[in-house]
Amino acid sequence: MTTYDISLLVGDGIGPELSDCVERVLHEIHDRSSCIRFTIGKVEAGDNALKNFGKALPDETFEKIKESQACLKSPVGESAADVVLVLRRYFDLYANVRPSKNYANIDSISTNVDLITVRENTEDLYLGWEFLSDEDTAISLRKISRFASQRIAKHAFEVAMKRDRKKVTIVHKSNVLRISDRLFIEASREISKQYPEVEFEEMYVDACAMELIRRPTRFDTILTTNLFGDIISDEAAQVTGSIGLAPAANIGEKFAMFEPVHGAAFDIAGKNIANPTSFILALKMMFDWLGQKYNDRKLINQASKVEKVIDDLFKANVKTKDIGGKFSTIEFNQILMNNLNEIGYE
Ligand code: ATP
Repeated sequence: MTTYDISLLVGDGIGPELSDCVERVLHEIHDRSSCIRFTIGKVEAGDNALKNFGKALPDETFEKIKESQACLKSPVGESAADVVLVLRRYFDLYANVRPSKNYANIDSISTNVDLITVRENTEDLYLGWEFLSDEDTAISLRKISRFASQRIAKHAFEVAMKRDRKKVTIVHKSNVLRISDRLFIEASREISKQYPEVEFEEMYVDACAMELIRRPTRFDTILTTNLFGDIISDEAAQVTGSIGLAPAANIGEKFAMFEPVHGAAFDIAGKNIANPTSFILALKMMFDWLGQKYNDRKLINQASKVEKVIDDLFKANVKTKDIGGKFSTIEFNQILMNNLNEIGYE
């Protein structure tokens, strides 16, 4: 029997509704599994926390997250940067991993896509090293280091090794960014030599943006830098369907944080219409990560069961309204838990 300490960050907008869904699924597994247990530290962060406690990331929240083994983070509103960037930096969550996949009965411009974007999460233009050289001229500095490039490349190749197709596409713009992106490519090529089983190709980011629309099935694992990854992974989410289905993981050596790709969606908050799938799939990613980290086969199996239930629900056209279904957030989540019960727990 293994007990995992999970922090659940509640957030803003549709965050509390989605957190409730995920918390209920965690409780269900905790109560019914013969070998998987959780303690859930529910914490607040974001705009609501700023209002209530004077800080977007209150000290108590930060402490509880530090004490946990992984964090499930629901969307945060305007103060997102004060929460996400702090956590990413503190835990050195260097890999942003986003799967994009076609599901049955989900309208999209593609079929049979199953790809994953592995984005470097710690440097590039996102360091915010910007200044005005005069009042009409802004300068941004881009940092790409060999260390961070090799580290993310290694992560991407490890991801690819666990997938059937074993293919990495490194996405860059080295014809223009001749020093920084050449260094990124060199570092990736170096790492690729350690993985002879993995097919390796290189592609300019503009070509990748087109190919994602034209022939997305050619991709398996996309390895790229921070800014390009931000854009490419959002595009990939749309290519395969709705943003309400897209999960993301922020992974470090010792800690990881799992979240929906979308934001707080204030326009639909409190209406019981938000799609919880993105957060449930983030939960699935957390099970996979914890299962691999702690060598827990049962938790990895439980992750597959969560994904299977989502697959089956969509096949049976059980969907929330945002993707053409008729079910509310709570109804969809309840049916999901019923189906989890039917296939049984580890
Ligand atoms: P951000 O500015 O942080 O990106 P946002 O809420 O403005 O956040 P998105 O999260 O990209 O933007 O969402 C865009 C729209 O998509 C939302 O306004 C909402 O209508 C819809 N949406 C997002 N997530 C969901 C969801 N889980 N279920 C249903 N609809 C969603």
